[in-house]
Amino acid sequence: MLNKQLIALEQKLGRSILNKIDEPFIQEQGVELWIKRDDLLHPVISGNKWRKLKYILNHALSLKTHKIISMGGAYSNHLHALAYTGQMLGIKTQGLIRGEQPEVVNPTLSDLFSWGMEGSFVSRSEYRQLRTYKAYDSLPDIQSGEYWLPEGGAMDLALQGVAELVDELDLDYDVLCVPCGTATTLAGIISAVSEETQVLGFSALKGAGFLSAEVSQ
Ligand SMILES: *Cc1c(COP(=O)(O)O)cnc(C)c1O
Repeated sequence: MLNKQLIALEQKLGRSILNKIDEPFIQEQGVELWIKRDDLLHPVISGNKWRKLKYILNHALSLKTHKIISMGGAYSNHLHALAYTGQMLGIKTQGLIRGEQPEVVNPTLSDLFSWGMEGSFVSRSEYRQLRTYKAYDSLPDIQSGEYWLPEGGAMDLALQGVAELVDELDLDYDVLCVPCGTATTLAGIISAVSEETQVLGFSALKGAGFLSAEVSQ
């Protein structure tokens, strides 16, 4: 059962439509290219961020969570979406942010703080250590009522939300392409497509070979 607050939030989201990209260079290849406009869902909780957070937030709300703690870089869209959603749902949020506190606060951080997220800057080695905590209660020293959300929302519950994106694709397709940060979205898509569908992930980071193991896991 989806929490009432989340049902209300979801009802206010925009529609993620399918657009055909009609460019001569694509037609010449004898293929059709469509883009799923998940970015239209919401200006802040946009795209895959809502998909990934939906069932995680539902779980957190069912546990009467009063604070969600997560991690990300200083430009993290994941923390950005979490801070905003937390404020909407009346749940406190804390972001463990990679690296030194920058001298000039960038627009992402400025938004996070204005939406009430508590920010803590952590060293790169601490940040790597945080990546090893994968369950909602696995963060050392976590208090009751607090919920740990791994980087990029990489939890099983995220896959369930991403699968809904796949269900909405009401046309025939052979290949699905998706950009990857933590590759949680990619994992969710793979979990939901038919066996004949090829899924291609394009990493935004260099040297992201390690992502293959994460996705398999
Ligand atoms: C977060 C984000 C991604 C990466 O999503 P992952 O599930 O971490 O791979 C890709 N594109 C945009 C625009 C994003 O905000």
